[in-house]
Amino acid sequence: MTRPPGYARLFQPTLDRHEVQQVDEVISAEWLGMGPKLKEFEQTWEKRLNASALALNSCSAALHLAMDALELPRGSKVLVPSLTFAATALAPLHCDLEVVLVDSDPVTLTIDLADLEAKYDENCVAVMVVHYAGHPAPMEEIAPWAESRGLAVIEDCAHTIGSLYLGRPLGTWGDYGCFSFEEKKIMTTGDGGLLVARDAKSLAGPRLKRWLGIDRDSWRQAARYLDPDSPDSHWFYEVPVRGFKYNMNDLAAAVGLGQLAHLDEMLGLRSERLSEYVKWAKEIGVETLVPYDPSQYAYQMFGVRVDDRPKVMRELKMRGIATGSHYTPLSRQPILSDQRGTCPYVEREADRLLTLPFHARMTRSDVDFVMKGLMEAITA
Ligand SMILES: *Cc1c(COP(=O)(O)O)cnc(C)c1O
Repeated sequence: MTRPPGYARLFQPTLDRHEVQQVDEVISAEWLGMGPKLKEFEQTWEKRLNASALALNSCSAALHLAMDALELPRGSKVLVPSLTFAATALAPLHCDLEVVLVDSDPVTLTIDLADLEAKYDENCVAVMVVHYAGHPAPMEEIAPWAESRGLAVIEDCAHTIGSLYLGRPLGTWGDYGCFSFEEKKIMTTGDGGLLVARDAKSLAGPRLKRWLGIDRDSWRQAARYLDPDSPDSHWFYEVPVRGFKYNMNDLAAAVGLGQLAHLDEMLGLRSERLSEYVKWAKEIGVETLVPYDPSQYAYQMFGVRVDDRPKVMRELKMRGIATGSHYTPLSRQPILSDQRGTCPYVEREADRLLTLPFHARMTRSDVDFVMKGLMEAITA
């Protein structure tokens, strides 16, 4: 199959011989469940982030397990940015917590500090921070603010991967960090996620709950079926807590290890394309989604802000250029309809946000094609 031009898809994974080789090993071993690849994948991330890590089947699972592990009193409030994917808000909702939506900073589109303070009251117990598009939220301000009010902090890192912010990896500033390896993210395992914490103790609960609450490791257990030195109770396990089916498996971890082998190369290509995009935007006088800094941070999305977005989208579609909208603010969604109008800036600005094709497979001429198309679309 011929690959479509890089401007025909918004997001696209980059898979090559590295993933094929890793998956081949798993298939040869005929062990696809939780096993050695999963362990290796976690250990690689632990080194890279200088933190403890737990591999899961999605970032949504990571967000839920993080929220669950904090054991917050039912009915208390969690501060969540309105401009994010539904998964960020579903985690507290699944834990019987109340979501309070917070507006976006006009420049970075991450959670707005003034509105955070305004929405805070004594029933608040946690804040969720999204590094929107991959641009870091000001953690050096949010972390001490949250600490002084006794709030837990969960970082939703679905749009970034392993970037350092002020010398510390994103995802390790708060109590928990949650990463996504879904197909459209910076790196993928098909579906997958990672839960990160600075100390291993914080992951003990989530570790038990990621596999239904079973206090055994199936890979080690299988090795004992025929081991004459293992006790007769080799089959025995207990379920001390109500867990979930949230584990990553070795097949997905193998794809992840393959991705890790060329992640830095992919990040380099993304930075090059992003620099070209930013230069173009400046030249044609179009506002970018966020103040991109491609030499410093890993970004999942490139986008611009335009007036008359429906027209621009239509014109780009006619030129074969994919577009998207990230996101409809949660304050406009039916599940949080009681909060309509509570985040006025982003509810207005969201209609100007336009996501454009961006992935490591794009070439310089793809970027040129998209931006020439954008120029024509705006003036059409
Ligand atoms: C993609 C995404 C998620 C969910 O990731 P999954 O791995 O698909 O569960 C959560 N938050 C944000 C901001 C996302 O973009």
